[in-house]
Amino acid sequence: MTKRVYIQGYPVDILSFNQALNCAKSAIDNGENLQVVTINPEMVELANKDKDFARILKHSELVVADGVGIKIALKLKGVNQERIGGVDYSRALIEMCAKDNYRLALLGAKEEVISTLREKLLAEFKDLNIVYSHNGYFDDENLILQEIKDARPQVLLCALGAPKQEIINFRLKEMLQGCVMVGVGGSFDVFAGYVQRAPVIWQKLGLEWLYRTLKQPQRFKRIFPTLPIFLFKSIIDSVKK
Ligand code: UDP
Repeated sequence: MTKRVYIQGYPVDILSFNQALNCAKSAIDNGENLQVVTINPEMVELANKDKDFARILKHSELVVADGVGIKIALKLKGVNQERIGGVDYSRALIEMCAKDNYRLALLGAKEEVISTLREKLLAEFKDLNIVYSHNGYFDDENLILQEIKDARPQVLLCALGAPKQEIINFRLKEMLQGCVMVGVGGSFDVFAGYVQRAPVIWQKLGLEWLYRTLKQPQRFKRIFPTLPIFLFKSIIDSVKK
């Protein structure tokens, strides 16, 4: 069992990247479902306003620290935790699917992105078993869920952005068995080459969020004032406990 720490009432699991991967592998091998949330400050703020999303966060089997804001909030509680980003974690899960022959499903992003991604992955991993892929712009959610159920994936990467991806994964938990389902945000855009990841030095300095905001200024209103509010509440939260 991993250690859980709570930030403003929402869980974060304290574990290494490899332990997070092992959790995924054990769930699949034991036929259990595992909903993974890669939590960031925007999600915490969203959950503070949306009870249903808050409930989903609290019922997720694995919540890993994405975003440097979460690292800082943990540090305020005296806990050191490495960042486990959605892009890195989902890439490692794809490699695991290729190596261990797990059934992989991909849901999300624009049609051109998902089809490029599918082609790229199949060129890179000859034996990768992609049992389902669909873009993230659809009207009939029930139909998509039924198709995913019929495909019986063991790993589902859901790239619809929060909270959509977490809501879909939560619904699928009732329908699937032995599946690791992860909300991976904009990861498909990165894998397919439509969005550039921050250079490693920015990543190492914990400034990937700043790089993305500079490249996509429309993200500015998502970060501000959310990030300062989150940090302020985290300071209050750490003093309380
Ligand atoms: N998206 C989607 N369906 C939607 C809304 C968004 O598939 O209805 C996709 C969008 O194309 C993008 C991803 O969800 O690939 C969200 O990316 P974003 O950068 O917002 O997520 P973040 O990485 O910031 O969580």
